[in-house]
Amino acid sequence: MPTPIVAGNWKMNTTLAEAVALASEMCGALDAVGGVEKVVCPPFISLKAVKDVVDGTSIRMGAQNMHYEEKGAYTGEVSPGMLTGLCEYVILGHSERRQYFWETDEVINRKVRAALAAGLKPILCVGEGLEEREAGWAKSVVTAQLHGALNFVTSIDTLAVAYEPIWAIGTGVAATGEAAEEIMGIIRSTLAELYSEAAAREVPLLYGGSVTPDNVAEYASQPNVNGALVGGASLDAARFSDIARGMAAG
Ligand code: PEP
Repeated sequence: MPTPIVAGNWKMNTTLAEAVALASEMCGALDAVGGVEKVVCPPFISLKAVKDVVDGTSIRMGAQNMHYEEKGAYTGEVSPGMLTGLCEYVILGHSERRQYFWETDEVINRKVRAALAAGLKPILCVGEGLEEREAGWAKSVVTAQLHGALNFVTSIDTLAVAYEPIWAIGTGVAATGEAAEEIMGIIRSTLAELYSEAAAREVPLLYGGSVTPDNVAEYASQPNVNGALVGGASLDAARFSDIARGMAAG
């Protein structure tokens, strides 16, 4: 069983000062939670300041996105090499990147490969929209996203996959533990087909979508859930720590 991961995606929230204050709060309760990898993913401009705050604790750093090229004329972008040393993890293929920034599976695939080449650990996000779920396409959408994102990827040793049904993100309408487990079992078996049973078993699978301290136990008890990707509740140190504790309790 992989060590569970609880990652907080701060999205486009927090000024530099707010990010430092939030990270300082996390150093108390969150640092003390054992048995789970705790990752915070602040906005790019706060990465260095937050890293300085959490250095020396058990809290790990992640970025929310990156470009796949190493350098060049890509105004406003951040390269993998700029993140190494600052972050261990990088969220890739978040549904907001797919939806608002038109990221395709091909672009996400380039990013996954670039992250791995740079020594960053990708948290690859997949998940279906509401219409796709209602049409009965959830499994095929997620499977196709996985195939697309992992094209030419030879090793998944440092990969984590987050299953985030789009209809559950930021809506308060979380998937049931059973519904999450159904798709996450398919993610696990797809990884096994693409790589091997042994490799697939070691990949942390995170559920994301309206996770709170109240519902985390429902996910933690599922056999194929090894963590959570948390948006809204990760902006509150006490709630995020409670989620990490709940996930660690399994
Ligand atoms: C997310 O954005 O990845 C997410 C899961 O958000 P929330 O927890 O707010 O639903």
